[in-house]
Amino acid sequence: MIRKINFYSGPSAIPKEVLQQATENFFDYEKQGFSIAEISHRSSTVKNILEEFHEKIRSLFMLSNEHEVLIVQGGARLQFAQIPMNFLSKEKTAGFIDTGYWAHKAMEYASYYGQTKIIAGSKNNNYSYIPKELFIPQKLNYLQITSNNTIYGTQYKQLPNIDSPLVVDMSSDILSIKRDFSKIDFAFACAQKNIGPSGMSVVIVKKEFLKKSNSNIPPIFNYQNLIQHQSNYSTPPVLSIYIGLLNLRWLHSMGGIQQIEIINNQKSKILYEEIERNSMFQNNIREEDRSNMNVCFFAKDKKIEQSFLNFCHQQNIIGIEGHKESGGLRASLYNAVPMEHVFILIQCMKDFEQAYQ
Ligand SMILES: *Cc1c(COP(=O)(O)O)cnc(C)c1O
Repeated sequence: MIRKINFYSGPSAIPKEVLQQATENFFDYEKQGFSIAEISHRSSTVKNILEEFHEKIRSLFMLSNEHEVLIVQGGARLQFAQIPMNFLSKEKTAGFIDTGYWAHKAMEYASYYGQTKIIAGSKNNNYSYIPKELFIPQKLNYLQITSNNTIYGTQYKQLPNIDSPLVVDMSSDILSIKRDFSKIDFAFACAQKNIGPSGMSVVIVKKEFLKKSNSNIPPIFNYQNLIQHQSNYSTPPVLSIYIGLLNLRWLHSMGGIQQIEIINNQKSKILYEEIERNSMFQNNIREEDRSNMNVCFFAKDKKIEQSFLNFCHQQNIIGIEGHKESGGLRASLYNAVPMEHVFILIQCMKDFEQAYQ
C-alpha cells in the first residue's frame, strides 16, 4: 500500500509507527488474548492506560501540581458548551478575542449560559493577524482565546498577559509548541489534530480556577467530578485514548515538545518561503503571527486553484483544500507530518509553476 502525503486539517495524519502498533494491539492487546476494545474500563489494563496518558501529558508539558489533567468525551465544540456551564452564569461575562471561525462558535455557545464580550479582534483585516493590544474594561469570569486558528492560519507565539483567568482553545496546536502554563487557567484540545483519533478532548485546568466552578450541573459535565474519577466516570473512549497514548509515547521518543517545535518551525518556514518565492501563490498573514500548524495560502489567479488541487492529487498529496469559510488552500503541518512530506509539497508547487506559468 502507498500511503498518501496527508495535509488534512483534522482528523489528520497520525505517525505510521503509531498506526502499526495500534493495529497489532487492536486484535491482541500486548499478547494477552483480548482486544483493547473488548475489556472493562474498570480493569487495571484500562486504568493503566489512563494513568500513563495523564502522566505523559504532564511530563511533556512539564506541568507542576498546580494543574489537573483530564480526558473528556467529545470534541472541542462540547468544550465550548461545557466551559461556560462550569464557569459562567447569566449575569457574569466571558471575554473573547475574535480571531475567526472557532472564536465565534465558542462565543455563540457561551451565550447560552451568560454574557459574552469581544475584547479585541481582527475581523476588519480578514483575520490576518493576532490582536495584541488588549484593554479589558470590566471584570471577566474568564477570557477565551484560540491559540492557533486552524481556518485562517494565525497563531499566538506568546500568550497574552492579562489579569482575568485565561482559557485557551489549543485544539490545533497542542503539543506542538512550548506553552507557559503558569499563565493558563484552562486549556483544552480536541484529539483529532495533534493527539490521535477523534472522540475525545484533553483538558488541563488550574486547581485554583476549578474551585470557582458551578456545582449545579449534571455530573457528566462537572469537571470537578470528572477529575475526581480520573477520567473514568462514565465509559471513556478507550480505543481513541489508547491510540492517543501511543502518539504521546511517540512524541516523547522524538525528544518531546522542545524537539518537535524546532522541526515544526523548520517545516512551516520552508513552506512559507516557497509561497513567497513561487509566482503562482500568495499568503496574507502577518509574518509574526503565521501559524506553524496550518499554512493557509491562495493562488494569485483563483481560476488555477482547482488545477493545482488536481495536480496535487496526481502526486498522491491529499487535504490541501482550504476551509469552506476562508476558501483558498491550506497545508496542515501537525506533529505527525514529516519534513519529507513538506519537501514533496514544495517540489509539487515548483513543478506546477513550471507547467502552468
Ligand atoms: C477543529 C477545531 C475545533 C472543533 O473541533 P470539534 O471536535 O470538531 O468540535 C475547535 N477549535 C479549533 C481551534 C479547532 O481547530
